[in-house]
Amino acid sequence: MENKIKIVLATGNPHKLQEINEITKDSGIEFILPGGDFNPIENGQTFEQNSLIKAQEASRISNMISLADDSGLCVDALNGEPGIHSARYDTTPQRRIDKLLKKLADTDNRKAKFVCVMTLTDKDGNVLNQEIGECHGQIATEQYGTNGFGYDPVFLVDGYDITMAQMSEDLKNTISHRANALSKMVKYIKENL
Ligand code: IMP
Repeated sequence: MENKIKIVLATGNPHKLQEINEITKDSGIEFILPGGDFNPIENGQTFEQNSLIKAQEASRISNMISLADDSGLCVDALNGEPGIHSARYDTTPQRRIDKLLKKLADTDNRKAKFVCVMTLTDKDGNVLNQEIGECHGQIATEQYGTNGFGYDPVFLVDGYDITMAQMSEDLKNTISHRANALSKMVKYIKENL
């Protein structure tokens, strides 16, 4: 039987763990939860800093190599907002979308990107590698589709005529910011660990 490389995924969310293990199932890597009380204080000013905080906290708890991601939506006309505040831009997913559409009501510049930064730390919390994945698109003027989560219903992906919420999970998992960062990180892990 193949001996898989075990890496802690810096999340308390079993669904995220399952999703990442599904995407990487043929990679020879198995991600596991940190165990214990995983409660990082995400007080960084950038995606890079916040993913580092999460990875270091997972390494501290588990004493194992750990991988963290931090992601969000950056809108050109809003100077990169909501950015690291994407999850807390308003109180519910629908209110976050409504707020975004309202702020963009009078602008023709609908350019935006999803960004995901992944950080890999060793068992002592030292950085081994950091990768950035981006997915470029436009903010639609109204919502389309019901798949996915967060801002997916208003994010029209460049090169496709549909929003992320109209894509199958399989397609999103090949073009998303997260998939992009993850494939680079998996390559690093396979070549270096
Ligand atoms: P997290 O760092 O993965 O927890 O993402 C932070 C927030 O960014 C989420 O709560 C969403 O609001 C937004 N976000 C990140 N990735 C996506 C995505 O793939 N689709 C839609 N929204 C996303």
